[in-house]
Amino acid sequence: MSLISLKNVSKFYYSKGVIASGFTKVNLDLYDGEFVAITGESGSGKSTLLNVISGLDSYEEGEMYINGNETSHYTEKDFEDYRRKYIGNIFQSFNLVNSYTVYQNIELVLLLNGYKKKHIKKNVLDLIRKVGLYKFRNTKVSKLSGGMKQRVAIARALAKETPIIIADEPTGNLDSKSAVGVLELLSEIAKDKLVIVVTHNYDQIEKYVTRKITMHDGRITEDKTFKTVTKKENIVEAKFKNITFFNKLRIGIRNAFNIKVKCLLLLFVFCFVAFAMGFEYSSNKEDEYILKKSGENIYFSDTNDKRIIIYKKNKSVITNDDFDKLTKINNIDYIVKNDILIDNFIELVDEKHEKYLYGSVKDISGYNGTLDIGRMPENDNEIIAIAADYDYYLHDKHDETINSIFYLNNGLTIDKSASYKIVGIQYGNSNLNNETEFYVSESACENFNKVYMYNNSVKKIKFNETFERIDNISSDKAIIPLNKVKERQAIVSSQFNYYCKYSNCYNKNIVFNLHNQYFDDSMTFKVEGTYNKNNFTRLTGLNKSEMYEYAIYINPNDYNKLFNKGIYQSSIYVKDLKQIDDTIDKLSNLGYKTFAIKDHLDVYEPLEYMQIFTMIISVILIVILFVISYFVTRVILKSRKVYFSTIRMLGSTKKVCKNLLTIELLVVANISFIIFLTSLILTKFNVITLGAFKMIVEYFEFKEILMLYILINIMSLIISVKYSKKIFKNSVITTLKEDN
Ligand code: ADP
Ligand code: MG
Repeated sequence: MSLISLKNVSKFYYSKGVIASGFTKVNLDLYDGEFVAITGESGSGKSTLLNVISGLDSYEEGEMYINGNETSHYTEKDFEDYRRKYIGNIFQSFNLVNSYTVYQNIELVLLLNGYKKKHIKKNVLDLIRKVGLYKFRNTKVSKLSGGMKQRVAIARALAKETPIIIADEPTGNLDSKSAVGVLELLSEIAKDKLVIVVTHNYDQIEKYVTRKITMHDGRITEDKTFKTVTKKENIVEAKFKNITFFNKLRIGIRNAFNIKVKCLLLLFVFCFVAFAMGFEYSSNKEDEYILKKSGENIYFSDTNDKRIIIYKKNKSVITNDDFDKLTKINNIDYIVKNDILIDNFIELVDEKHEKYLYGSVKDISGYNGTLDIGRMPENDNEIIAIAADYDYYLHDKHDETINSIFYLNNGLTIDKSASYKIVGIQYGNSNLNNETEFYVSESACENFNKVYMYNNSVKKIKFNETFERIDNISSDKAIIPLNKVKERQAIVSSQFNYYCKYSNCYNKNIVFNLHNQYFDDSMTFKVEGTYNKNNFTRLTGLNKSEMYEYAIYINPNDYNKLFNKGIYQSSIYVKDLKQIDDTIDKLSNLGYKTFAIKDHLDVYEPLEYMQIFTMIISVILIVILFVISYFVTRVILKSRKVYFSTIRMLGSTKKVCKNLLTIELLVVANISFIIFLTSLILTKFNVITLGAFKMIVEYFEFKEILMLYILINIMSLIISVKYSKKIFKNSVITTLKEDN
């Protein structure tokens, strides 16, 4: 039985509406053991015939039998299997992988056909010996002569152990001496295979062939058999398995590094993508951060984003024990115990009500500047100031200001129960708002704090039966500490008589009640005097001009008991903003309610729109980046087209080709990613000091790194899928023709 049999087979080409004939009505039976030469002038259809026999190209008419099987119903997959079982191809232009060594070129066939490593090595070396290239086994094919290359191609065709070897003008590119060597080799092979050789130069091959077929204008014009060959009973098909994952990995990784220029270019593209995206992302984050930081909060003047305001969940006083525990939290930079003072300004007034000082209050322990005038405080009522530029009394009038007595203006009245002295001034204020800052003792802090406790509480007084609110906005009623009043006694304005029984408050008990966010309290006072214009100075010891219409004067100790119960609210400043949420959790576990400034900043609306705008821009940028890198990669991969048609010719399927390309790109993508990560680490340890890198380090955490990793890998997957589709748009033979 014939190995290949063609009955009236014709092949047409359709191009641009024109039908061209490849060959017409060919009848042919080919047997194993034959060494067939096909000759004829150029364009007579020899290659077309070989391609049809090889299953590389389809036929339009007639019947083709392979080992007795009719093939008209064969699918692409059937032909792929057929090629793998029956056909070894040899081409005029060798179609070897130039960047591989001799060994690797032959090994490739076996890897693609699922052979295990231990079988491969012996087989490959035997084949290399057989074609006489043992010395060159580790030489890159690109460095070999044409004759040697064709021997490699023969060894490769033999590796699969197919019963048919098809060679299209194998000596066309060789000098006559090399040609003879190659033909001898082929004739030797033909002893137990069917070898078909197309040649222009029949004289060269004449003495080896067993049969000569001549073609002319697409038809067989001559078919002579010189020698009958012994035909085998059973044709042994080449054994093959599907390529193993491990083999794919080997080839894929080899391909990643094989062509150095390509490898470097791809690395460059992927690194570029990684860094560009990293930079884009982190610069956006930075903009966002700056934007957020610039936000405001109407209740808090200190909008430092590292600030967390805390108070106890059970609204109790924060004790020194509590502060000790708080200082043990890692991420805490410092604590401002008297938190209310941070956001509120105080006004100090001198005795004559001539000089006014206005500024924020800080704990003296936090002062680390140098005084320009005066000295540091020596007792609790001495204060130093960092003067704001515009502060007239601390600059021009500092001589009069320093060492004179000041009182606290507590909103409605001047609190004369405690006095303060400015003893030192520092010029050149460095704070952001250019406000004067007072550095005061802890006890003074507490004293100032009372003002806010007072102002932020609901205050009521019961004169008779009902409570009267004295803190309405329109109210001009006030409780004022005065040293002259005894404890639990009060001197009240005679205006209040109206509220008391028999219109007289003298000697009656009044109940003062206060309520605020943190506590409720009340205290009973006995009215020791009711003042009016005439007796005001006698009762209070104060100047008539200071008389207040609706005041209730009480002893400072009582005032203290009411309004200075300790610290209910503090502010914590963290060291590392990134860990602020952790710190908030810890505070919550310690029993605190937290209010992080960073979450309560109002950003100007136009800036928010700008944020959306930059987000859109960056999405567009990333898409453009992807598209550009896709096309650059395609250009780089273009040189790989020959490679993929070659391995297709060697029996790898579409899927295998795609997998190989995917592995190749994934390897490069991952190396690029490692380069990216390494440079981030080096930046972190200050080996690299580039600003752009530092910015990426600042904003890249695990989440971002993972995202980028996934993105880069997806990108290489998309490229490999798209590109392998493109490779498979054309048939193998068209691709091979195009590129040679
Ligand atoms: P040979 O190998 O004998 O030189 P070919 O088999 O290459 O000849 O070509 C046979 C005929 O088929 C020629 O007329 C050629 O122009 C035509 N032909 C070959 N390949 C194509 C193709 N891809 N498209 C259209 N015509 C083709
Ligand atoms: Mg040809």
